[in-house]
Amino acid sequence: MDAPQRFNYAAAPQRVLHGAGRAAELGTELAQLGARRAVLLCSPGQLGVATEMSARLGERCAGVLPLARVHVPAELAREAGEQARRLEADALVALGGGSAIGLAKALALQTALPIAALPTTYAGSEATPIYGITSGGDKQTGRDPRVLPRVVIYDPELGRQLPLGLSVASAINGMAHGVEALYAVDRHPVTQALAQRGLRLFREGLDALLSSGERGPMLTAAWLCGHVLGQSQMGLHHQICHALGGRFDLAHAQLHAVVLPHALAFHAKRLPGLAQEVAEAMDVPDPVAWLIGARRSAALPASLRDLGVDSRQLAQIAAALAKRPYASPIVATEASILDLLLEAWEGC
Ligand code: NAD
Repeated sequence: MDAPQRFNYAAAPQRVLHGAGRAAELGTELAQLGARRAVLLCSPGQLGVATEMSARLGERCAGVLPLARVHVPAELAREAGEQARRLEADALVALGGGSAIGLAKALALQTALPIAALPTTYAGSEATPIYGITSGGDKQTGRDPRVLPRVVIYDPELGRQLPLGLSVASAINGMAHGVEALYAVDRHPVTQALAQRGLRLFREGLDALLSSGERGPMLTAAWLCGHVLGQSQMGLHHQICHALGGRFDLAHAQLHAVVLPHALAFHAKRLPGLAQEVAEAMDVPDPVAWLIGARRSAALPASLRDLGVDSRQLAQIAAALAKRPYASPIVATEASILDLLLEAWEGC
C-alpha cells in the first residue's frame, strides 16, 4: 500500500543489544543507568532463571518478584508497586514475555523507574511505549514515554525453554504487529520497511527455529515488528484481541494466532494491494494459508470456541468495538465485525 504523503517519525530513545550470551552485560547496562538496587520481575515459571540472574547481579539486584500475569491485572500492579517500593528499587528488570514486561511498565508508570528488558517471547512489548492494565475484565491501553524500556537485551540463549507451541503463537502475535503496521493510518516509509522485513524474518526465523533451534532471527523479527507497533496506531485486529483477552482472560499469543488469519482476510478484502504486499514481504503465495498451516503444525487452538470464548457475548462485543473503533483505514460496521468474530469462533 502507498505511504501517505504527510507523516511523523520520532526515533525511540532505547539501547538494544542482540546476540548470544549478551544477558551477561546486564550488570554493566544497569550501572550505566545509575541503578544500584534493581528489582527483577518475571512470571512464576521463570523464577529459576531470574534467581540465577539475580545471583549474577549480586548487590545490584534488590530482589526478585515472580508475580507477572497476563494482561496485567490492576490489583497485581498495585501489589508489585508496593513490594518494589519496600525493596527501595531504583530500576526494573523485566525477564520473560509480555507479561513480565507489562508488569514492569505498569510500575514505571507509577514510579518513572527505568526498565531493562530481556524478552524471551516474540510479543515485542519491549520495543514500545505502550502499556496495558486490566480492571474488571476491561483492558485499557495507553502510551507513555516513561514505560519504554531504556535497554533491551535480546539473548537467544535465554528463551531456550520456550515451548514450540508458544513460540509459534508468539511469532504470529509479532507478525500481527507487522501486518497492522502495513495499513496503519499513520504508516510511513520507516514503519513500512521494518514491518516488511520483520514479517520476512518471522517466516524465515520460524523455519530456522524448527530446523536448528536457532532463535536469533526470531528475536530480531520481534524487535522490528515491536518497533513498528510502537510507531503505529493499532487497528481492528489488535482491538479485537484486547477486548477478548481482557474480558475472557485469554492467553495472549494463542488469541492472536486464532484471530490473525480472519483479520488479515477481512482487511485484504477491503484494502487493494494488502494481500500482495504481505505475500511479498513473507515470500509465500498465500499468507492466510501460511498462518493457518503454522498454527496447525504446532497443534495450537484453532478457534475462539477452543479458547473458551462464550459466543453469546460476541454481538455485544461487536457493538462495543464498532462504537469506539481504533484508528483504521476502513470503516468496519457492527455487522461485519460480528461476522469476523463468528468466523473466528468457528475457526479454520
Ligand atoms: P507471557 O509473557 O504471558 O508468557 C506466556 C507464557 O510463557 C507464560 O506462562 C510464561 O511463563 C512463559 N514463558 C515466557 N518465557 C519463557 C521461557 N523462556 N521459557 C518457558 N516459558 C516461558 O506472554 P506473551 O505473549 O509474551 O505476552 C502477553 C502479554 O504482553 C499480554 O498482556 C499482552 O497484552 C502484552 N503485550 C504488550 C505489548 C505492548 O506493546 N504493550 C505488546 C505485545 C504484548
